[in-house]
Amino acid sequence: MKVRALVALFTVFCSMFLVWALPAQATTHRVCVDAGHGGTDPGAVYKSLEEKNVTLDIATRLQTLLQTAGYTVVMTRTGDTTLDNSQRAAICNNAHAEVLTSIHLNASSDHSIDYTLGLYGKISKDQAFAKTVNSAMSGLGIPNNGISHFADGMLLKAVMPATLAETVFISSDSEYGLLTDGTGNRQQQIAQFLLQGINTWFGV
Ligand SMILES: [Zn+2]
Repeated sequence: MKVRALVALFTVFCSMFLVWALPAQATTHRVCVDAGHGGTDPGAVYKSLEEKNVTLDIATRLQTLLQTAGYTVVMTRTGDTTLDNSQRAAICNNAHAEVLTSIHLNASSDHSIDYTLGLYGKISKDQAFAKTVNSAMSGLGIPNNGISHFADGMLLKAVMPATLAETVFISSDSEYGLLTDGTGNRQQQIAQFLLQGINTWFGV
């Protein structure tokens, strides 16, 4: 009887240790990632770069980073397809995504301008999320112009907290150099800071 009790105690002790020794539970949150523009809409164009291709590149990198961290990722597009704002919002809504991050690049006729900017549509629901993601973008090493309100159809139609990240300026000569150096490092960096912002939002 005494031995049996000892064995039982030992078993309890071992199972407790096993639970403690297990790695931290991966996050299970569901994120919608939207690559801006696509198909017949190239977005901003500068020299050899079309915004729609850069946004898809960054979105695909972000998808991989999120999935590696355990997130379930819903993509509005994975190829060069044409989608309107309603379709983008519907994809995220139908998938019951908890947040939506839309990836864009800004443009200006002044090729020395480069900064990051976060846009929000729904005043009460989007603002805090836009701010959290935009704060992480300060890591890009360019000025951060904070967040602004933009009554974008996709942001307004998406039921979850959503932001449109104007990550960097495609029309900036220095940014263009980084984006076309063939390494993909700048695209990866942008994806990593977007991940960081999403992680902060979920407390991951
Ligand atoms: Zn855009």
